Amino acid sequence: MSIIEKLCFGERWGEVVNIHPTLPSTEQEKESDLSEINRFTLRPLTINEFIVFTLDLCHNQIDRHFSCFPEDELEIINRKVPGRPLMERHDLKGSLPRGTFFRSTLHQDGDRLSVRPKVYVLTLEENRNFIANIEGGIYRETSIGFSFSFPECSICNKDIRRCVHVPGENYEGKMCFYRMRGIQEVLEGSVVACGSQGTSFVSDARTHWFEQFGEKGGLSFYQNARKNIFKNKTWCKE
Ligand SMILES: [Zn+2]
Repeated sequence: MSIIEKLCFGERWGEVVNIHPTLPSTEQEKESDLSEINRFTLRPLTINEFIVFTLDLCHNQIDRHFSCFPEDELEIINRKVPGRPLMERHDLKGSLPRGTFFRSTLHQDGDRLSVRPKVYVLTLEENRNFIANIEGGIYRETSIGFSFSFPECSICNKDIRRCVHVPGENYEGKMCFYRMRGIQEVLEGSVVACGSQGTSFVSDARTHWFEQFGEKGGLSFYQNARKNIFKNKTWCKE
């Protein structure tokens, strides 16, 4: 089996750091954002053509899936985020991006290390509702889609797809979790609602995915599942 077929796909939640747009306070900051943004455009934009948001996409803490990112993998994600698309809710329907991440930094807050990128969204009429939902605190959670190659068991340090340990179970007083190692790609970042029907849909889809397939599935399986996520219930075996 090829390495591609052994890749895992994952999603992890974060949050919108500033529910209000970041308005650079100095000309220097404006120019800094503008020059970085214009690296991704086909013509130079002006200050009034975009709005900037700052998001936390993922962090090093153990999450609800009993997994975590080692700090060196967060550094890899941090390098891969610029240029990736920002999606609305989650791209289960193949919708087009709403924005582009143009800068990413690692943010330390006590023990918590997070990947904190900035994203620009064009101030077009078609983005007005999207921007308003973020500014109004409705879209306040984020989701990062990524692939990785090695889910390392915290108990035995082997591939958790092959060892006997189960994430979330206790072994001699130690809770099992797995470290997501070998980050391959950052696919996209999404902004999702909190507590709305949209959130429920995203949450249900995500829960369904992990209940049915977990991260023991392969990338090729994920690609098929994206086409028909609620119909394919076959557990993926390597
Ligand atoms: Zn193990």
